[in-house]
Amino acid sequence: VWPACLQRLETELPQDEVSMWLKPLQADRRDGGLVLYAPNAFVRDEVQSRFLERIRELVRHFDDGAEVVVDIGAPRRIAAAPANQALPARPAPAAVVEPFHGNVDPHYSFDNFVEGRSNQLARAAAWHAAQKPGERTHNPLLLYGGTGLGKTHLMFAAGNEMRRLNPAARVLYLRSNTFYDAFFRSLQEKTTDQFKRQFQKIDALLIDDIQFFAGKDRTQEEFFHTFNALFEGRQQIIMTCDRYPREVDGLEPRLKSRLGWGLSVAIDPPDFETRAQIVLSKARERGAVLPDEVAQLIAKKMRSNVRELEGAINKLTAQAGLLGRPVTMEFAQETLRDLWRAQQQAISIANIQKAVADYYGLQLREMLGKKRTRSLARPRQVAMALAKELTEHSLPEIGVAFDGRDHTTVLHACRQIRTLMESDGNLHEDWDKLIRKLSE
Ligand code: ADP
Ligand code: MG
Repeated sequence: VWPACLQRLETELPQDEVSMWLKPLQADRRDGGLVLYAPNAFVRDEVQSRFLERIRELVRHFDDGAEVVVDIGAPRRIAAAPANQALPARPAPAAVVEPFHGNVDPHYSFDNFVEGRSNQLARAAAWHAAQKPGERTHNPLLLYGGTGLGKTHLMFAAGNEMRRLNPAARVLYLRSNTFYDAFFRSLQEKTTDQFKRQFQKIDALLIDDIQFFAGKDRTQEEFFHTFNALFEGRQQIIMTCDRYPREVDGLEPRLKSRLGWGLSVAIDPPDFETRAQIVLSKARERGAVLPDEVAQLIAKKMRSNVRELEGAINKLTAQAGLLGRPVTMEFAQETLRDLWRAQQQAISIANIQKAVADYYGLQLREMLGKKRTRSLARPRQVAMALAKELTEHSLPEIGVAFDGRDHTTVLHACRQIRTLMESDGNLHEDWDKLIRKLSE
């Protein structure tokens, strides 16, 4: 089926998209369904979010009802060799890895993770967990923060580092929904004992995106037991969540409290310098040379998440490669214009005003009004400064949108907020949170 689907997709999609995302997939038949193996998590996620719907339709069309999943790795017959190389001393029993076939992606390391203020603590925590797995000071380790900020990357890096230090280490990576699927399958097949036993044999469990457990009571309970068993066995547990677990509705209180037993560290959106470094590093990985000014341009335009930065770099390097052109400023502007436009359209001054008012619990009318009390004036300034930062509007235009204020008032607000943020951590946090919210 896959060759047929691919052929069809080639007629529907731009060529560079096909060669970047779809050609690298290796298809395998399994249990009457189709598994598409991606070379890394990035391709997998991209395929899942952008192409999977269409692929499913096509597969259904050609093959009448077969299910499709996308995973990382290689088809089973080829997978055995590389996967086991890392474990020469005590090869993991097949059962541990087999049913999950979603293992630590070797591509992600601490070396290719760019450190900055926003992720420094998370990086250090993951690094310590890899150096001394199971120690109480960082077990369990929980990394939390918005999407595309490097949580999974750090988790993989920790897993790879554990194996580098101890090639016999058995590290199991599972996305939470894989845990859920596998657990349910074991219930149906009456193999829950086997399911449970798998966790006894590992040294570290990396479990990704636990917010997915919300509202799934039976799975949470099972995870709770798994967690306790691992914790008592001094096996390292690393988890990620898209926000602080206490804020996740539908997670059981006793599980929430357990999650916080060890070390919980936030990961924030990277600042401008870090974003520029990431751009350069990702481009280098793809064998492309970017001028610094292009890296800065991308870092300036794309703020919210690293996955988007990566999308821009992919697009840029792929097109430069296809056309055989060097990546100049003009080329970058031209190639990425659509991406910028999509971003800009998403964020309007009105959106910003509303988000800021909501954030501070104010009425929009109050916030835009004339009153100068600090509880109104400060949010008003934040909103003006954000409008300058996130849109392409001029100072006078922003002034007009803020109840007809003068452009000097807007300029003053921008400067004031910049200066205040240097010493006021809370304000800085408000700023980062608002940017994240607006860029979603
Ligand atoms: P999350 O799990 O938080 O949603 P990921 O770990 O999947 O995010 O990161 C998304 C992409 O961004 C990955 O390709 C990852 O390599 C990259 N990335 C994120 N942060 C960094 C960083 N600090 N340095 C290098 N790459 C990063
Ligand atoms: Mg992730």
